[in-house]
Amino acid sequence: MTSIALKHFIGLRHTTPETNSVTLPKTLSATVETRRARGINAAKTSPKITGRNLRVAVIGSGPAGGSAAETLAKGGIETFLIERKMDNCKPCGGAIPLCMVGEFDLPLDIIDRRVTKMKMISPSNVAVNIGQTLKPHEYIGMVRREILDAYLRDRAATAGATVINGLFLKMDLPSSPTAPYVLHYTDYNTKTGGAGEKKTMEVDAVIGADGANSRVAKSINAGDYEYAIAFQERIRIPDEKMKYYENLAEMYVGDDVSPDFYGWVFPKCDHVAVGTGTVTHKTDIKKFQLATRIRAQDKITGGKIIRVEAHPIPEHPRPRRLLDRAALVGDAAGYVTKCSGEGIYFAAKSGRMCAEAIVEGSENGKRMVEEKDLRKYLEVWDKTYWPTYKVLDILQKVFYRSNPAREAFVEMCADEYVQKMTFDSYLYKKVAPGNPIEDLKLAVNTIGSLVRANALRREMDKLTV
Ligand SMILES: Cc1cc2nc3c(=O)[nH]c(=O)nc-3n(C[C@H](O)[C@H](O)[C@H](O)COP(=O)(O)OP(=O)(O)OC[C@H]3O[C@@H](n4cnc5c(N)ncnc54)[C@H](O)[C@@H]3O)c2cc1C
Repeated sequence: MTSIALKHFIGLRHTTPETNSVTLPKTLSATVETRRARGINAAKTSPKITGRNLRVAVIGSGPAGGSAAETLAKGGIETFLIERKMDNCKPCGGAIPLCMVGEFDLPLDIIDRRVTKMKMISPSNVAVNIGQTLKPHEYIGMVRREILDAYLRDRAATAGATVINGLFLKMDLPSSPTAPYVLHYTDYNTKTGGAGEKKTMEVDAVIGADGANSRVAKSINAGDYEYAIAFQERIRIPDEKMKYYENLAEMYVGDDVSPDFYGWVFPKCDHVAVGTGTVTHKTDIKKFQLATRIRAQDKITGGKIIRVEAHPIPEHPRPRRLLDRAALVGDAAGYVTKCSGEGIYFAAKSGRMCAEAIVEGSENGKRMVEEKDLRKYLEVWDKTYWPTYKVLDILQKVFYRSNPAREAFVEMCADEYVQKMTFDSYLYKKVAPGNPIEDLKLAVNTIGSLVRANALRREMDKLTV
């Protein structure tokens, strides 16, 4: 059982092939037509809308909201994108997989750095170099969120979404299957000064892309999730030191930097982002941050802290992600992977998938949507990504539980096969075809590493008794 689990999480491979997931349609209407021609869709029962198109509000314009709004607007939906802070600097490491650049057609000039080397550093400061298996064109993108988010929001506006600088406060739920949602928000677009003006808006459906502290989630009584607190400092370091991080990122593991996560140094345009996170010891986060800085000190001394930031990271999906014609996406839904803390790609992807379900269900905005239309997004999402989340959950439980286990984890990272499988899965979010002999060798090596880790822990326990 363990070896089966290991086999999957080492390469982070999905048991569900990507081909079973939503294949992003070139034009959504074309997909609807093809499905109709094949007789796949049952006749729609929801009423046709006359005199206007379906109105959808997207709350929050991070990667989830920006990509949802763009897809909706392109699909013929009257789209409103409400963002409280247009220059929001989301606290974030900003690492994105290569496939996001292609799938979301991101221009290369919004990517600060292309990381091709990683150092995984163990509790005893053994550093393993990762990245030798990358092909010449492969890299991990490093972005600043204020740049990425603004880019996606502008693109949604160009596609036809109405962008509102406003704070969503709450919404009144519809009283019948065709009644509108009434959104209450503070509009900052007005000329009334900083306080803004209280307004209401009627829409047919709502996408909650308003992050970890989602008010849309509260409005639909979506329930809570466990969360990690992540802390990050942006540090401007001297140019000669920055050269070291030019295309290199570091990950530190150990009880000192976090009891259940990792510390990182990620390179940005003119600074490095140094951070860490924890679920279990939130009040000690500053202590862990200091330890991360100490571990990296010879490479960042002389640096100046230019920004300090912290934010919750969801640990698992909310108990409810959909109610009637309102759905949650991205962090609002709880789509961050354990172990790696990755959420940007999953936010953008879930925003797009949810919007596609609405476009398709409403036949490009001509019909009212129903809960079952939006539910298709959840079905596809869960089928496609549930194994990834599960695997990373197991990985975290096995390898982040003690320093000896972390030493074993870093040791395992030196294996070229592990590196290839892990990078392929991270960069492409696709099934990485395995090699049975290498899989077997890996399972044996992994068990060996874990046995050594346990033996080491027992020895250490004896010493501390
Ligand atoms: C310190 C840290 C480091 C991280 N590093 C990485 C990393 O390297 N790679 C990675 O993939 N993921 C990382 N993550 C996770 C990643 O940041 C999130 O998963 C991602 O931002 C989720 O995107 P989102 O669009 O769902 O939500 P968010 O990015 O949180 O966007 C929500 C948006 O909604 C707006 N909003 C909120 N409430 C309202 C309201 N009431 N009215 C109007 N607007 C509202 C906010 O201003 C914001 O713009 C990190 C997280 C943290 C905290």
